[in-house]
Amino acid sequence: MDGRSDNGLSLRQDLHMSATAGPVEAPAKPVEDPAGPLHRGPTPEEIQEPVLENLDRFITGLITVVPPALVVLAGWQLWNRGLHLRDIVLLIALYIPIGLGVTVGFHRLLTHRSFKTSPALRGLFAVLGTMSIEGPVISWVADHRKHHAYSDRLGDPHSPHVDHGGGWKGALRGLAHAHVGWLFDHQQRGSRERFAPDLIADPVVNFVDKTFIFWSLLGLAIPFGLGWLIAGTVAAGLEAMLWAGAVRIFILHHVTYSINSLCHFFGRRRFATDDESHNLSWLAPLSFGEAWHNNHHAFPTSAFHGMTKREVDLSGLTISGLERLGLVWDVQRISPDRQAAKALAD
Ligand SMILES: [Zn+2]
Ligand SMILES: [Zn+2]
Repeated sequence: MDGRSDNGLSLRQDLHMSATAGPVEAPAKPVEDPAGPLHRGPTPEEIQEPVLENLDRFITGLITVVPPALVVLAGWQLWNRGLHLRDIVLLIALYIPIGLGVTVGFHRLLTHRSFKTSPALRGLFAVLGTMSIEGPVISWVADHRKHHAYSDRLGDPHSPHVDHGGGWKGALRGLAHAHVGWLFDHQQRGSRERFAPDLIADPVVNFVDKTFIFWSLLGLAIPFGLGWLIAGTVAAGLEAMLWAGAVRIFILHHVTYSINSLCHFFGRRRFATDDESHNLSWLAPLSFGEAWHNNHHAFPTSAFHGMTKREVDLSGLTISGLERLGLVWDVQRISPDRQAAKALAD
Protein backbone atom coordinates (compact mmCIF):
# COMPACT_ATOMS: atom_id res chain seq x y z
CA MET A 1 0.00 0.00 0.00
CA ASP A 2 1.80 3.13 -1.07
CA GLY A 3 -0.94 5.69 -0.63
CA ARG A 4 -0.57 7.09 -4.15
CA SER A 5 -3.72 8.95 -5.11
CA ASP A 6 -5.19 10.51 -8.20
CA ASN A 7 -4.90 13.97 -6.80
CA GLY A 8 -1.29 13.37 -5.73
CA LEU A 9 0.04 16.15 -7.91
CA SER A 10 -2.04 18.93 -6.42
CA LEU A 11 -1.22 17.59 -2.96
CA ARG A 12 2.48 17.81 -3.77
CA GLN A 13 2.10 21.38 -4.93
CA ASP A 14 0.39 22.21 -1.63
CA LEU A 15 3.28 20.59 0.22
CA HIS A 16 5.78 22.52 -1.81
CA MET A 17 4.01 25.80 -1.26
CA SER A 18 3.80 25.15 2.44
CA ALA A 19 7.49 24.30 2.46
CA THR A 20 8.54 27.60 0.98
CA ALA A 21 7.99 31.12 2.12
CA GLY A 22 7.96 34.40 0.29
CA PRO A 23 7.29 35.08 -3.37
CA VAL A 24 7.62 31.52 -4.65
CA GLU A 25 5.49 30.63 -7.62
CA ALA A 26 4.01 27.17 -7.85
CA PRO A 27 5.90 24.88 -10.24
CA ALA A 28 4.59 25.12 -13.80
CA LYS A 29 1.61 22.79 -13.98
CA PRO A 30 2.84 19.66 -15.74
CA VAL A 31 0.81 18.38 -18.66
CA GLU A 32 -1.27 15.30 -17.84
CA ASP A 33 0.81 12.30 -18.75
CA PRO A 34 -0.96 8.99 -19.36
CA ALA A 35 2.24 7.19 -18.37
CA GLY A 36 1.66 8.25 -14.78
CA PRO A 37 3.20 10.57 -12.22
CA LEU A 38 6.71 9.06 -12.34
CA HIS A 39 7.09 10.43 -15.85
CA ARG A 40 6.36 14.05 -14.99
CA GLY A 41 9.58 15.94 -14.50
CA PRO A 42 10.75 19.30 -13.25
CA THR A 43 11.17 22.37 -15.44
CA PRO A 44 14.76 23.38 -16.39
CA GLU A 45 14.54 26.47 -14.13
CA GLU A 46 14.04 24.19 -11.14
CA ILE A 47 17.40 22.47 -11.63
CA GLN A 48 20.56 24.08 -10.24
CA GLU A 49 23.22 24.69 -12.92
CA PRO A 50 26.43 23.06 -11.68
CA VAL A 51 29.30 25.48 -10.93
CA LEU A 52 32.86 24.06 -11.20
CA GLU A 53 31.36 20.58 -11.39
CA ASN A 54 34.61 18.61 -11.20
CA LEU A 55 35.93 20.64 -8.27
CA ASP A 56 32.56 20.14 -6.53
CA ARG A 57 32.82 16.37 -7.11
CA PHE A 58 36.43 16.32 -5.85
CA ILE A 59 35.55 18.17 -2.62
CA THR A 60 32.43 16.03 -2.12
CA GLY A 61 34.62 12.93 -2.65
CA LEU A 62 37.13 14.19 -0.08
CA ILE A 63 34.40 14.90 2.48
CA THR A 64 32.86 11.48 1.78
CA VAL A 65 36.05 9.40 1.84
CA VAL A 66 38.28 11.07 4.45
CA PRO A 67 36.01 10.65 7.54
CA PRO A 68 35.48 6.87 6.95
CA ALA A 69 39.25 6.47 6.46
CA LEU A 70 39.81 8.25 9.78
CA VAL A 71 37.11 6.08 11.38
CA VAL A 72 39.38 3.12 10.57
CA LEU A 73 42.23 4.94 12.34
CA ALA A 74 39.91 5.61 15.29
CA GLY A 75 38.98 1.89 15.36
CA TRP A 76 42.67 0.98 15.50
CA GLN A 77 43.16 3.41 18.37
CA LEU A 78 40.18 1.88 20.17
CA TRP A 79 41.65 -1.59 19.63
CA ASN A 80 44.92 -0.44 21.20
CA ARG A 81 43.05 1.03 24.15
CA GLY A 82 44.42 4.46 23.30
CA LEU A 83 40.99 6.09 23.47
CA HIS A 84 40.35 8.58 26.27
CA LEU A 85 36.97 9.23 27.86
CA ARG A 86 37.33 12.95 27.07
CA ASP A 87 37.21 12.16 23.34
CA ILE A 88 33.87 10.37 23.65
CA VAL A 89 32.47 13.16 25.85
CA LEU A 90 33.57 15.73 23.24
CA LEU A 91 32.08 13.61 20.44
CA ILE A 92 28.67 13.57 22.14
CA ALA A 93 28.96 17.22 23.21
CA LEU A 94 29.45 18.26 19.57
CA TYR A 95 27.16 15.68 17.91
CA ILE A 96 24.08 16.94 19.76
CA PRO A 97 24.20 20.70 18.95
CA ILE A 98 25.49 20.17 15.40
CA GLY A 99 22.90 17.43 14.77
CA LEU A 100 20.17 19.76 16.05
CA GLY A 101 21.60 22.46 13.76
CA VAL A 102 20.69 20.16 10.86
CA THR A 103 17.36 18.81 12.13
CA VAL A 104 15.89 21.81 13.94
CA GLY A 105 17.79 24.48 11.98
CA PHE A 106 18.31 23.44 8.34
CA HIS A 107 15.26 21.18 8.20
CA ARG A 108 12.36 22.21 10.43
CA LEU A 109 13.11 25.97 10.66
CA LEU A 110 14.73 26.95 7.36
CA THR A 111 13.27 24.40 4.92
CA HIS A 112 9.74 24.01 6.31
CA ARG A 113 9.21 27.14 8.46
CA SER A 114 7.67 24.99 11.17
CA PHE A 115 8.31 27.70 13.78
CA LYS A 116 9.59 31.28 13.97
CA THR A 117 12.53 32.69 15.88
CA SER A 118 14.86 35.71 16.14
CA PRO A 119 17.59 36.45 13.56
CA ALA A 120 20.23 35.61 16.20
CA LEU A 121 18.86 32.11 16.83
CA ARG A 122 18.29 31.60 13.10
CA GLY A 123 21.95 32.44 12.53
CA LEU A 124 23.09 30.15 15.37
CA PHE A 125 21.10 27.20 13.99
CA ALA A 126 22.45 27.87 10.48
CA VAL A 127 26.04 27.97 11.80
CA LEU A 128 25.62 24.76 13.85
CA GLY A 129 24.06 22.93 10.88
CA THR A 130 26.86 24.12 8.59
CA MET A 131 29.42 22.49 10.92
CA SER A 132 28.00 19.11 9.83
CA ILE A 133 29.68 19.72 6.43
CA GLU A 134 26.54 18.76 4.51
CA GLY A 135 26.97 21.66 2.09
CA PRO A 136 26.06 25.37 2.16
CA VAL A 137 22.74 25.90 3.96
CA ILE A 138 20.84 27.40 1.00
CA SER A 139 21.83 24.51 -1.32
CA TRP A 140 20.79 22.02 1.38
CA VAL A 141 17.37 23.68 1.67
CA ALA A 142 16.89 23.95 -2.14
CA ASP A 143 17.65 20.24 -2.59
CA HIS A 144 15.34 19.27 0.25
CA ARG A 145 12.43 21.43 -0.92
CA LYS A 146 12.82 19.86 -4.38
CA HIS A 147 12.75 16.43 -2.69
CA HIS A 148 9.36 17.30 -1.18
CA ALA A 149 8.03 18.78 -4.43
CA TYR A 150 8.88 15.62 -6.40
CA SER A 151 9.21 12.88 -3.75
CA ASP A 152 9.97 9.56 -5.43
CA ARG A 153 9.17 10.92 -8.90
CA LEU A 154 11.39 12.18 -11.70
CA GLY A 155 12.88 15.40 -10.29
CA ASP A 156 13.53 14.09 -6.77
CA PRO A 157 17.29 14.65 -6.20
CA HIS A 158 17.64 11.47 -4.13
CA SER A 159 14.88 8.94 -4.61
CA PRO A 160 15.86 5.25 -4.40
CA HIS A 161 12.89 4.45 -6.66
CA VAL A 162 13.36 6.47 -9.87
CA ASP A 163 15.23 5.03 -12.85
CA HIS A 164 17.40 2.47 -11.07
CA GLY A 165 16.00 -0.68 -12.68
CA GLY A 166 14.15 -3.63 -11.16
CA GLY A 167 15.04 -6.58 -8.98
CA TRP A 168 17.51 -6.61 -6.12
CA LYS A 169 20.20 -4.97 -8.30
CA GLY A 170 17.89 -2.03 -9.03
CA ALA A 171 17.03 -1.79 -5.33
CA LEU A 172 20.70 -1.72 -4.32
CA ARG A 173 21.51 0.79 -7.07
CA GLY A 174 18.60 2.98 -5.90
CA LEU A 175 19.66 2.82 -2.26
CA ALA A 176 23.28 3.68 -3.15
CA HIS A 177 22.10 6.66 -5.23
CA ALA A 178 19.76 7.91 -2.47
CA HIS A 179 22.40 7.44 0.22
CA VAL A 180 25.47 9.08 -1.30
CA GLY A 181 25.52 8.74 -5.11
CA TRP A 182 23.22 11.73 -5.66
CA LEU A 183 25.83 14.03 -4.08
CA PHE A 184 28.00 13.42 -7.16
CA ASP A 185 25.13 13.64 -9.64
CA HIS A 186 24.21 17.20 -10.51
CA GLN A 187 21.30 16.45 -12.87
CA GLN A 188 18.47 17.02 -10.37
CA ARG A 189 19.82 19.41 -7.73
CA GLY A 190 17.36 22.07 -6.55
CA SER A 191 17.79 25.55 -8.03
CA ARG A 192 18.63 27.96 -5.20
CA GLU A 193 16.83 30.87 -6.92
CA ARG A 194 13.74 28.79 -7.59
CA PHE A 195 13.45 26.84 -4.35
CA ALA A 196 15.00 29.15 -1.74
CA PRO A 197 14.52 32.83 -2.74
CA ASP A 198 13.40 33.61 0.82
CA LEU A 199 16.77 32.45 2.20
CA ILE A 200 18.79 34.26 -0.48
CA ALA A 201 16.94 37.39 0.68
CA ASP A 202 17.66 36.64 4.36
CA PRO A 203 20.92 38.48 5.22
CA VAL A 204 21.71 36.24 8.21
CA VAL A 205 21.27 32.93 6.38
CA ASN A 206 22.89 34.26 3.21
CA PHE A 207 25.99 35.28 5.20
CA VAL A 208 26.31 31.80 6.77
CA ASP A 209 25.83 30.22 3.33
CA LYS A 210 28.60 32.35 1.79
CA THR A 211 31.01 31.64 4.66
CA PHE A 212 30.32 27.88 4.60
CA ILE A 213 34.00 26.86 4.51
CA PHE A 214 34.88 28.91 7.59
CA TRP A 215 32.16 27.27 9.74
CA SER A 216 33.02 23.81 8.42
CA LEU A 217 36.66 24.27 9.48
CA LEU A 218 35.59 25.80 12.80
CA GLY A 219 33.73 22.53 13.48
CA LEU A 220 37.13 20.80 13.32
CA ALA A 221 39.09 23.54 15.12
CA ILE A 222 36.78 23.48 18.17
CA PRO A 223 37.47 19.81 19.12
CA PHE A 224 41.18 20.33 18.43
CA GLY A 225 41.25 23.38 20.70
CA LEU A 226 39.23 21.70 23.45
CA GLY A 227 41.38 18.54 23.37
CA TRP A 228 44.54 20.64 23.58
CA LEU A 229 43.10 22.78 26.38
CA ILE A 230 41.92 19.80 28.46
CA ALA A 231 45.00 17.56 28.12
CA GLY A 232 47.67 20.14 27.34
CA THR A 233 49.26 18.49 24.30
CA VAL A 234 48.92 18.88 20.53
CA ALA A 235 48.56 15.08 20.26
CA ALA A 236 45.50 15.25 22.53
CA GLY A 237 44.10 18.00 20.31
CA LEU A 238 44.57 15.85 17.21
CA GLU A 239 42.99 12.87 18.96
CA ALA A 240 39.96 14.96 19.95
CA MET A 241 39.72 16.19 16.36
CA LEU A 242 39.73 12.57 15.16
CA TRP A 243 36.83 11.57 17.40
CA ALA A 244 34.76 14.76 17.83
CA GLY A 245 35.61 15.89 14.28
CA ALA A 246 36.01 13.03 11.77
CA VAL A 247 34.05 10.31 13.60
CA ARG A 248 31.30 12.79 14.47
CA ILE A 249 31.08 13.96 10.82
CA PHE A 250 31.00 10.33 9.63
CA ILE A 251 28.15 9.32 11.98
CA LEU A 252 26.04 12.42 11.32
CA HIS A 253 26.55 12.19 7.54
CA HIS A 254 25.39 8.60 7.38
CA VAL A 255 22.46 9.20 9.73
CA THR A 256 21.32 12.08 7.49
CA TYR A 257 21.91 10.03 4.33
CA SER A 258 19.92 7.14 5.82
CA ILE A 259 16.85 9.37 6.05
CA ASN A 260 17.06 9.79 2.26
CA SER A 261 17.83 6.13 1.51
CA LEU A 262 16.53 3.77 4.23
CA CYS A 263 13.50 5.88 5.23
CA HIS A 264 12.24 5.79 1.63
CA PHE A 265 12.60 2.01 1.54
CA PHE A 266 12.18 0.27 4.91
CA GLY A 267 9.94 0.70 7.93
CA ARG A 268 6.26 1.35 8.61
CA ARG A 269 3.79 3.73 7.06
CA ARG A 270 1.26 5.37 9.39
CA PHE A 271 -0.13 7.95 6.96
CA ALA A 272 -1.30 8.01 3.34
CA THR A 273 1.29 9.93 1.34
CA ASP A 274 1.91 9.79 -2.40
CA ASP A 275 5.56 8.75 -1.98
CA GLU A 276 7.51 5.89 -0.41
CA SER A 277 8.35 7.55 2.92
CA HIS A 278 8.49 5.23 5.96
CA ASN A 279 8.95 5.53 9.72
CA LEU A 280 12.11 3.74 10.86
CA SER A 281 11.91 3.58 14.64
CA TRP A 282 15.46 2.32 15.39
CA LEU A 283 16.93 5.33 13.57
CA ALA A 284 14.83 7.87 15.50
CA PRO A 285 17.11 8.32 18.55
CA LEU A 286 20.33 8.94 16.57
CA SER A 287 18.55 11.10 13.96
CA PHE A 288 16.86 13.19 16.66
CA GLY A 289 13.39 12.26 15.42
CA GLU A 290 13.95 12.69 11.68
CA ALA A 291 13.39 8.97 11.05
CA TRP A 292 9.61 9.45 11.61
CA HIS A 293 9.84 10.27 7.94
CA ASN A 294 6.39 9.06 6.84
CA ASN A 295 4.87 11.36 9.51
CA HIS A 296 7.04 14.16 8.11
CA HIS A 297 5.99 13.65 4.49
CA ALA A 298 2.35 13.52 5.60
CA PHE A 299 2.70 16.82 7.50
CA PRO A 300 5.85 18.62 6.26
CA THR A 301 5.27 21.86 8.18
CA SER A 302 4.82 20.13 11.54
CA ALA A 303 7.52 21.05 14.07
CA PHE A 304 7.10 17.55 15.51
CA HIS A 305 7.98 14.46 13.47
CA GLY A 306 7.34 12.14 16.40
CA MET A 307 3.56 12.40 16.81
CA THR A 308 2.83 10.04 19.68
CA LYS A 309 4.42 9.71 23.11
CA ARG A 310 6.27 6.60 21.94
CA GLU A 311 7.79 8.30 18.88
CA VAL A 312 11.03 9.71 20.34
CA ASP A 313 11.79 13.11 18.80
CA LEU A 314 14.63 15.08 20.41
CA SER A 315 14.29 17.87 17.82
CA GLY A 316 10.59 18.29 18.67
CA LEU A 317 11.42 18.35 22.41
CA THR A 318 14.07 21.00 21.74
CA ILE A 319 11.57 23.17 19.85
CA SER A 320 8.92 22.91 22.59
CA GLY A 321 11.62 23.65 25.22
CA LEU A 322 12.69 26.78 23.32
CA GLU A 323 9.02 27.74 22.96
CA ARG A 324 8.54 27.52 26.72
CA LEU A 325 11.53 29.83 27.14
CA GLY A 326 9.94 32.31 24.71
CA LEU A 327 12.81 31.92 22.22
CA VAL A 328 10.69 30.46 19.41
CA TRP A 329 7.02 31.01 18.53
CA ASP A 330 4.29 30.16 15.99
CA VAL A 331 5.19 26.49 16.41
CA GLN A 332 3.22 24.39 13.89
CA ARG A 333 1.21 21.51 15.40
CA ILE A 334 -1.07 19.06 13.60
CA SER A 335 -4.45 18.53 15.29
CA PRO A 336 -5.57 14.96 16.10
CA ASP A 337 -8.40 15.41 13.54
CA ARG A 338 -5.99 16.21 10.71
CA GLN A 339 -3.83 13.26 11.72
CA ALA A 340 -6.83 10.92 11.80
CA ALA A 341 -7.96 12.08 8.35
CA LYS A 342 -4.68 10.89 6.79
CA ALA A 343 -4.07 7.83 8.95
CA LEU A 344 -3.82 4.45 7.23
CA ALA A 345 -5.78 1.55 8.68
CA ASP A 346 -3.56 -0.76 10.80
ZN1 LIG B 1 11.83 12.11 2.20
ZN1 LIG C 1 11.49 17.75 4.91
